[in-house]
Amino acid sequence: MSEMITVTLPDGSQKQTARGTTIGDFVREGIGAGLAKAALFARANGQDMDMSRPLTEDVKLQIFTSKSPEGLDLIRHDAAHVVASAVQRLFPGTQVTIGPSTEEGFYYDFFREKPFTPEDLEKIEAEANALLKKDEAFVRTEISMEDAVRLFEQKGETFKVEIVKDIAAKGAKTLTLYTHGDWVDFCLGPHAPSTGKIGVIKILSSSGAYWRGDHRNPMLQRIYGTAFFDKKALQEYVTRIEESKKRDHRKLGKELDLFHFHPYAPGAAFWTPKGTALYQTLSDWMRGLTAGDGYVEIKTPLMFNKGLWETSGHWGKYKENMFLVLDNETGEHDFSLKPMNCPSHHLYFGFKRHSYRDLPLRLHTQDVLHRNEAAGSLGGLTRVRQFAQDDAHIYCMESQITDEVRRFVKLLDRVYKAVGLTYAVKLSTRPEQRLGDDSLWDRAEGGLKTALESLGLAYELAPGDGAFYGPKIDFTVSDSIGRRWQLGTMQLDYLAPQRFDLNYIGEDNAEHRPVVLHRAIFGSFERFTAILIEHFAGAFPAWLAPIQAVLVTVADRQLDYARKVRDDLRAKGYRVEVDERGMTLNAKIREAQIQKVPFTLVVGDAEVEAGGVAPRRYGGEDLKSMKLADFEAVLAKEGALP
Ligand SMILES: [Zn+2]
Ligand SMILES: [Zn+2]
Repeated sequence: MSEMITVTLPDGSQKQTARGTTIGDFVREGIGAGLAKAALFARANGQDMDMSRPLTEDVKLQIFTSKSPEGLDLIRHDAAHVVASAVQRLFPGTQVTIGPSTEEGFYYDFFREKPFTPEDLEKIEAEANALLKKDEAFVRTEISMEDAVRLFEQKGETFKVEIVKDIAAKGAKTLTLYTHGDWVDFCLGPHAPSTGKIGVIKILSSSGAYWRGDHRNPMLQRIYGTAFFDKKALQEYVTRIEESKKRDHRKLGKELDLFHFHPYAPGAAFWTPKGTALYQTLSDWMRGLTAGDGYVEIKTPLMFNKGLWETSGHWGKYKENMFLVLDNETGEHDFSLKPMNCPSHHLYFGFKRHSYRDLPLRLHTQDVLHRNEAAGSLGGLTRVRQFAQDDAHIYCMESQITDEVRRFVKLLDRVYKAVGLTYAVKLSTRPEQRLGDDSLWDRAEGGLKTALESLGLAYELAPGDGAFYGPKIDFTVSDSIGRRWQLGTMQLDYLAPQRFDLNYIGEDNAEHRPVVLHRAIFGSFERFTAILIEHFAGAFPAWLAPIQAVLVTVADRQLDYARKVRDDLRAKGYRVEVDERGMTLNAKIREAQIQKVPFTLVVGDAEVEAGGVAPRRYGGEDLKSMKLADFEAVLAKEGALP
């Protein structure tokens, strides 16, 4: 009888199997035929492996199917092999180089004189999808480096030969090959059992790229593609890409006249009156919410001497990201624009002697911040150098952490719900390198977990992903077209109170260190505004819209009345305009739709006589003529901050 080994499954259950059984056979016999059929690859003691690999020792085993993001990543890598084989079949003489996975698919670089035409890409896509139907097995073999060099030399693959020689020079003795049909490539794997596991391949685009990214090297032809398990998922992806282009905040920013950039101030926005109204509404909203939730708002200096950054540790680690300012008296660049508010809040905390009765102290600040991002990485409102955050720091006792986390999550939930963003929660725990002993981390992580669990929030655990000074909770939102953005964060910090020597007097009359919680809900106003522009496609709800209502008259004789209505509504705090341009009524109504104004108020003789307006909603719904007071009631309801 052969020797048995123990396989531990993710649910903790254990099974015995004969040493040498392949993972595929083990799953079929030990778990079930359904999972064996659906399995794409396995993770055995942390290492990703083909289903055809044998189990040789006691192992923790996890199986991945099309249900997991890892499964999708895998078939995209599979697809890169299939596309390369299709290209070589269609265009003999084309050499292959490398084909890594990307976040949304893969690319593959080919050596060929002529760039691929759009027609070529269509042919390649058709050929690759035809190859999937053959459902060829991915076969793994290992060969010696000498054999590998010979193999690729025979095939005339000079780039592959170069890579194999590089790998050999680094000391590798063998190379892993993967073959499907008669096409072979080397890679670390793993691969799905066969090409048929890939549902559909889509070729996205092509471009030129230099071999190894060096312009002195030959020019290669890069093909970008992606793959999905089924056509429906591909169609959703294509729709999302098209929809993202339409919603691009840079494009809508121009069309809706919200902001500008100028080369004289890279990464810093000029906000138009409409853009400013949008920004200011978000700012006022957050001020009101935080004030109502027990925060106090403070302002701190924008520029600080390096002494502050030395205390906080930024001078050593973060200096390249700060804008340094010359001090004429010392002749040194020993001042800096602040890149974040935290250190100035810590200084502020230290101005007074605090008792436990003052805690928690919640400091909110929306000051302007500067970070010296590389000029090449700047773009739109999502990559900027000048921005503001809905930043706050909570100084509290350790025993208050759970309550503060709960309070914060409730506020965040209210904000995201109001704008229709759903969110997922991730808890990052102690990393290898960390400050403080295990009991401190037990308490910190326990406090966060208790808070999340008491709120009934599902969360993903990211062991080891916390900062060295404390665990954190990250909130990733999904927008209206399913794109994900990392937004809110709450970070526990045990280090800053030490560095800044922050204390409070406890009930026992002795000095204690508070804990600091860094937290933000919008993150930066600039980026959040960009996300909201794209999320709403520029059609903001009435409370957020830069212009809430625009009055359009049937004839000029109603203009005086329209102006009076505008002034009345403005006096009540609403954002209202009159379109006084000499255009037809229909053209003005159309223009208001293009500008995505929530309410277009039509005024004719009948409205003037009745003291009313005839509102239409963005999108076309006609609310019919009504008294001005009745429209005001609508606006009061929908225009109020949520
Ligand atoms: Zn591969
Ligand atoms: Zn902070």
